[in-house]
Amino acid sequence: MRKTWSGALLAVLAIGARANTRPSFMLVVHGGAGSIARGDLTPPEDSAYRATLTEAIHRGYDVLRQGGASLDAVQAVITVLEDSPLFNAGKGAVLTNVGTVELDASIMDGGRLRAGAVAGVQHIKNPILLARLVMDRSPHVLLAGAGAEAFAKEQGMALVPQSYFYTERRRRELKRVQEAEHGERAHGTVGAVALDQAGRLAAGTSTGGIANKRWGRIGDSPIVGAGTYANDRCAVSGTGVGEYFIRNVTAHDICARMAYTGVSLEQAARDVVMTELARQGGDGGVIALDSDGRFTMPFNTEGMFRGYAGPDGQIVVKIYKDE
Ligand code: ASP
Repeated sequence: MRKTWSGALLAVLAIGARANTRPSFMLVVHGGAGSIARGDLTPPEDSAYRATLTEAIHRGYDVLRQGGASLDAVQAVITVLEDSPLFNAGKGAVLTNVGTVELDASIMDGGRLRAGAVAGVQHIKNPILLARLVMDRSPHVLLAGAGAEAFAKEQGMALVPQSYFYTERRRRELKRVQEAEHGERAHGTVGAVALDQAGRLAAGTSTGGIANKRWGRIGDSPIVGAGTYANDRCAVSGTGVGEYFIRNVTAHDICARMAYTGVSLEQAARDVVMTELARQGGDGGVIALDSDGRFTMPFNTEGMFRGYAGPDGQIVVKIYKDE
């Protein structure tokens, strides 16, 4: 009897300790992984990226601090990054091999295992908002191309002309990539994972894909389980060469490894990104967050735009491998 009581007491204490260390909310964000080495960005460019990431994290942080839903925080963060010409999502997205912009995005509600996604849309200013509408207002998970845009119109969303997305920088980049002998890869993507005060996890990802991609190509970002995944214990958003993320079902693999083998989120994410993907030549990284608020941001490239914020309100932003 005494033994049972002391066992029960220990269990209660252990739960208490866990509850004490679990942050009341957490937000982790990425703005794409790639060959971003120190010196590649000029000081003003470096500051501009950091400022925009900080602003995006701030928006999401405000939602979570006020008790808002993780889904709304993810959406708020990604909308800011889509509106910035700096990141490869929304305005400033990379161009296809025929010079068009084709955008992919998805969002997932971990607690209720709901998801919405759009692929290959060309006139949607904020694809993440349309992905949210697909989840909330249609019986489907993934809508593509003209059908997705017709759904957007029905939902009262204004479409924008392709010219809205074009930036001179992306035009020059496409030329450079097309002229490069050894298929230079220019990519990037934005994503966020969040845990709200009610303990609900969410994940979202939005991208223009890979520069010079064949038109019609769909990457991993709108594919649930590949570029984005969330359940009640784990949320992941990825960035990198999408074909590898699709073949490895990367985002889901991280959550599944955690659930099936009992390894930590950090270990699962590291094994997948630094060992599996790296071995295959799958450049990229992920942000991953578990239901205890523990997170990790591994990448096997030179850099990854990334950052996070928790209840202390301190916003941390990093770009290069060595910071
Ligand atoms: N994963 C994206 C894609 O393949 C690109 C990226 O994250 O850089 O479409």
